[in-house]
Amino acid sequence: TLTIGVLALQGDVREHRAMLEQCGVRTIGVRRPAELAQVDGLVIPGGESTTIGKLAGIFELLEPIRAALRAGLPAYGTCAGMIMLADGIEGGTAGQETFGGIDMVVRRNGFGRQVDSFEATVEFAPTWADHFDYPATFIRAPYVEKVGGAAEVAATVSGPGGDRIVAVRQGRLLATSFHPEITGDTRIHELFVELVRHA
Ligand code: GLN
Repeated sequence: TLTIGVLALQGDVREHRAMLEQCGVRTIGVRRPAELAQVDGLVIPGGESTTIGKLAGIFELLEPIRAALRAGLPAYGTCAGMIMLADGIEGGTAGQETFGGIDMVVRRNGFGRQVDSFEATVEFAPTWADHFDYPATFIRAPYVEKVGGAAEVAATVSGPGGDRIVAVRQGRLLATSFHPEITGDTRIHELFVELVRHA
């Protein structure tokens, strides 16, 4: 059986573990390098990216996670977790720490105050799997300002400011602006489990 870790520093850890377990994998919370070493894949939950970055430093996970991602550990970041996987941030806090890994620039709190939280049906259109409509929940969500050559856009949402990229994959790394762990719809977690299975 695959073991997928959920970074358990802050954010909606329990919901991700429940969804992953519905997909038939074993899960553990990751707070220490020794736990990181046991996982076949890592989910980085939503919450507050500055807090997650600070805690990752305090728990001595920043370098081990960066190294694991460079070595090919599959990872899936949602919302604040997407920010943690971005190579660049707009609207971040000075000195904000991330893991990086996906060649993209993410705009933190990109959807702004007006639409702090909203739901939208997004067409999840991966280049590597079947397309499907997904009921996405956005909570003070980032969007992706731009992606580099190695990153594939998997979903966009149209809003007042035009179409915004809200899901990206690069190799074994996946990121979504929205929170699939609170919808009861496991299809995005299943896609991640498939990425881990084939890694
Ligand atoms: N706005 C948060 C951040 O910048 C992310 C919000 C979320 O994860 N729901 O980290």
